Amino acid sequence: MKESCIPVIADIHFDYKLALGAIKAGVDGLRINPGNIGSEDKVVKVIEAARDKKLPIRIGVNGGSLDKKIMEKYGGLCPEAMVESALENIYLLERLNYPWMKVSLKSSKVPMMLRAYEQLAEKVDYPFHIGVTEAGTEKSGLIKSAVGIGALLDKGIGDTLRVSLTADPIKEIYAGYEILKVLGLSKKGATLISCPTCGRTEINLILLAQKVEELVEKIDVPITVAVMGCPVNGPGEAKEADIGIAGGLKQGLIFKKGKIIAKVKEEYLYQEFVKELEKTVQEYKEENNEGFTTF
Ligand code: SF4
Repeated sequence: MKESCIPVIADIHFDYKLALGAIKAGVDGLRINPGNIGSEDKVVKVIEAARDKKLPIRIGVNGGSLDKKIMEKYGGLCPEAMVESALENIYLLERLNYPWMKVSLKSSKVPMMLRAYEQLAEKVDYPFHIGVTEAGTEKSGLIKSAVGIGALLDKGIGDTLRVSLTADPIKEIYAGYEILKVLGLSKKGATLISCPTCGRTEINLILLAQKVEELVEKIDVPITVAVMGCPVNGPGEAKEADIGIAGGLKQGLIFKKGKIIAKVKEEYLYQEFVKELEKTVQEYKEENNEGFTTF
């Protein structure tokens, strides 16, 4: 724990003694899965060990490991069963006078998790950790997570989140920030606008947008970058952005703060754009007293 520069959360399943060990080792938070942590007396022992530190505890209900009794009662997995599982543990912690909790109700099925969170939000006022569990690979998982997490956040449900992907975990962080940015809940990092291309596109816009996206992912200031395909609809978006390109016939216009600053042949367009983008980021940082950036 001493080696970590970020808070360490212990995610405990099955064996409550692991939770006791993690508390002793100095974790910053715990997740317990009510579906498999076992009988009430085990949860009580964990709570008593966590009490002195007022350790945040997440009651982490997961559709894939719901308590058998509850599943039998409802005839299978459903939002009501997930909510009942969470409530059993919320009420237990309340009886133990332990308010330092948050709750998650994750399912790999987006409608299931949406209904579960919505129902629980009407019953309790604790912070919610939200996410679509086992969402899938980078492609399908991103879509599921964006739909599920986005729909909840837009209703004001959710205090922390995790995007779960079968991919490099760094991509989960990026996706999480993208969801927040799309909803206007975070200003961290740049936003890319790019057009879908059509018969008017006369430069290799798909490749150009992909290359610009790789740069945009590294930018840590809230600027807008537009990559548009043609001089018909492109300049409008490019002008609105902090910096943008509008393609033409084997060439492109570079816009900055609404003005054309260069007309460049396609073969040099990316490299010229990179220079201007770098300057734009730097200017933003100077205006806002931030550090230095190079790509
Ligand atoms: S901006 Fe131009 S090239 Fe891009 S989709 Fe719109 S009309 Fe087509």
